[in-house]
Amino acid sequence: MRPIRARVSRAALAHNLSVARAHAGASRVMAVVKADAYGHGLAALLPAFQTADALAVLALDEARLLRQSGWNNPILLLEGPFDAGDLAEAASLGCWPVLHGAHQLDWLDALPETVRIEAFAKFDTGMHRLGFALDAFDSVLARLRAHPRIAAVTLMTHFAQADEAGGVGWQLAPFLDCVATTGLPWSAANSAALIAHPESRGDWVRPGIMLYGASPFAGRSAASLGLKPVMRLESALIAVRTLAAGEAVGYGCTFRAPRPMRVGVAACGYADGYPRHAPTGTPVAVAGTRTRTLGRVSMDMLCVDLEPVPQAQVGSPVELWGAHIPVDEVAHAAGTIGYELLCARAARVPVFTEP
Ligand SMILES: *Cc1c(COP(=O)(O)O)cnc(C)c1O
Repeated sequence: MRPIRARVSRAALAHNLSVARAHAGASRVMAVVKADAYGHGLAALLPAFQTADALAVLALDEARLLRQSGWNNPILLLEGPFDAGDLAEAASLGCWPVLHGAHQLDWLDALPETVRIEAFAKFDTGMHRLGFALDAFDSVLARLRAHPRIAAVTLMTHFAQADEAGGVGWQLAPFLDCVATTGLPWSAANSAALIAHPESRGDWVRPGIMLYGASPFAGRSAASLGLKPVMRLESALIAVRTLAAGEAVGYGCTFRAPRPMRVGVAACGYADGYPRHAPTGTPVAVAGTRTRTLGRVSMDMLCVDLEPVPQAQVGSPVELWGAHIPVDEVAHAAGTIGYELLCARAARVPVFTEP
């Protein structure tokens, strides 16, 4: 059997959820589990989310799975219904839809009379992606409050720079000016805001990435935030060879051995979700020892430097990311963020969920 696998720890997830809970104070915690729990496998990980007050998903397939798996607490649909049929099914599943555009409000009118929906009204405070303009705040709210299908409204926005120097104040202040006129509950904070901007917690916080043990900040490690990696992407060496000085390894011959070198071939490539852009020098662990990748990442393989691991041989374990190699370090080397690598785990990489 090909040795690549993702090991996923429920205990680490539960720990990170408790860290989020501690930051949340009196706010309720809505754990974001979109993209199959950021690539970790939602169904098997679900027991570790039991202490969350609600779960947030992208679309109805995930909401269905949660209901079938026995999740009876609230579910938020982060982008709301994509068509009128979605809204009807969201109602029948007892989900809370985000409503961010006038077209979605029109779909409310088509719902059966018996339906009552608890909605999150999303306002655009500067991200300029989804949400009603704050200029339209009063009219949107009046329409929702008067609508016979709407049982409750929570106000929501999303931050563009919660993880950066720009911060959240420029978005939060105008949003809270509007919120204050209503007395309604509100939600704004993602992981970065929850950690760095406690004034943005509101009634519901929406942490995602921190629950999976990666950092929302470019300059702060997950470990320094008290978080534990939930996924360990591991494989093994399927070949070992010695390069003579001047010989190259991999496509494009981008790495040439400056001296005779032992090189290992690991069963992991970009078709597994490992970033092809990771250059020579990207950190990787072989038999528990930190070393580096060499040359270009192939579809199904990548090469590693065995100089720091002289005892390595065919079958030696390789950690692509996990306890020894933070996913954020691999992401940084490849010019991306931990989020993308976790979500990119390919379907062909089996997940083993552990207690
Ligand atoms: C994905 C998402 C989150 C979670 O963001 P993290 O940076 O992963 O904590 C929160 N809110 C919304 C609307 C999202 O789409």
